[in-house]
Amino acid sequence: MQRILNTETAKYLGKTVKVAGWVNTVRSHGKIIFIDLRDRSGLLQIIFTPDKENLYTLAQKIRPEWVIGVEGKVSKRPRGMVNPKIETGNIELHPENLEIFSQAKTLPFSIDTLGYEISEEKRLKYRYLDLRRERMRKNLKIRQKVLHFIRDFLTNQEFIEIDTPILTKSTPEGARDFLVPSRLQPGKFYALPQSPQQYKQMLQVAGIEKYFQIARALRDEDPRADRQAEHTQLDIEISFASQKEILDLVERLYVNLVKKLFPEKRVTKIPFPRMTYKKTMEKYGTDKPDLRRNKENLNELAFAFITDFPMFEWKEGEKKWGVMHHPFTLPQTEDIKKIKKEPDKILAFQYDFVLNGYEIGSGSLRTTNLEVLTAVFEVLGHKKQDIKKQFRHYFDAFRYGVPPHGGIAPGIDRFLAKVLNEPNIREVIPFPKTGDNRDLMMDVPSEVTEEQLKELHIKIVKRKNR
Ligand code: ASP
Repeated sequence: MQRILNTETAKYLGKTVKVAGWVNTVRSHGKIIFIDLRDRSGLLQIIFTPDKENLYTLAQKIRPEWVIGVEGKVSKRPRGMVNPKIETGNIELHPENLEIFSQAKTLPFSIDTLGYEISEEKRLKYRYLDLRRERMRKNLKIRQKVLHFIRDFLTNQEFIEIDTPILTKSTPEGARDFLVPSRLQPGKFYALPQSPQQYKQMLQVAGIEKYFQIARALRDEDPRADRQAEHTQLDIEISFASQKEILDLVERLYVNLVKKLFPEKRVTKIPFPRMTYKKTMEKYGTDKPDLRRNKENLNELAFAFITDFPMFEWKEGEKKWGVMHHPFTLPQTEDIKKIKKEPDKILAFQYDFVLNGYEIGSGSLRTTNLEVLTAVFEVLGHKKQDIKKQFRHYFDAFRYGVPPHGGIAPGIDRFLAKVLNEPNIREVIPFPKTGDNRDLMMDVPSEVTEEQLKELHIKIVKRKNR
């Protein structure tokens, strides 16, 4: 007999069906054993009575979280036993056959609460159990719905979803790179992408015009709340589009997404306010203002775009200029002398996407003039010959016909955390890492064998005790 889902049993009243899942609860009432069976669809009550002796004896051993399969007859519950709180609250299963697939130890924590009260170390170590929790399952489901909506929406607008390499070269997005040693090229390294920035620009040279990817961005950040070594972005790049067209697209996408998937939410203002960085700083003292009318209201979403950021920022610690976004961003002047002499005065075609006081994405128009690009890198302290070497593909590709282009990369995790009123992004990421970038479930990072190190031409030098 083929197994059906718990919630499908209602269609089979009076018939024999087969169900399977985890034992959610076991209760004994007088001589009757009640088991609530849980599967991906929901709960189903199963009743074991002493008249069926063999089954009953076996059922007495069953404990929570065992995985079982049951064949039995679907019956109406007696009056007074109806449970309106669950979808199968009118029916129960009278077993004819019971199979125990696996037993389970007592779980290290309870999974029938919201889970916020449990230490995160424990939840992350036993993530596969934590994800059995209803709240987490809901979060995973809604995450998938959001991704599905985005894919559909952009595909309908003729965007092409293209995946780009994970083993690549350093992309300066302001964080440290994760490096991967090369076995076949001794002494050389790949970098994991901080974003697909360079590839998506090369795709514009390739004539794709409308690109997107649900991409993983890998950044070796120092521990910071609400940051992860890997996060997921909706990466977009478009040719021949103005800044306005890019922002309009993002606005349309999010307005429709909220309407479809979160109808209980109210968007504070449509069109989303667009304000310059300067005005925003003057008015709110931050570039991520929280524009909700009522901050107590959990269902309010205040989106905004902040535009015209300064191109450069002075890094006091390192005593050098850095970029506000990334070096491929288009300055609002092509006057190279000015870029080099007065970097503090240069604005950029850069924009941030803000939600309820959080930056949930940023993007920019890109420089296609190689002299301007070189000048930007020079301001950042790079030598001309190094720039050409590290970004040779730009200098080659842009000489073969490059369209004006720009893009943006809204973060998926932050948006989800905000819209679901979750306190941090780890609640919406299936397998997040700790603040110091460890995966407690897999126990990584971890040591590797001498053999592996040798193959990779790597020697670990233990630091002497000082
Ligand atoms: N690559 C940028 C980022 O990851 C986004 C963009 O400029 O499109 O923030």
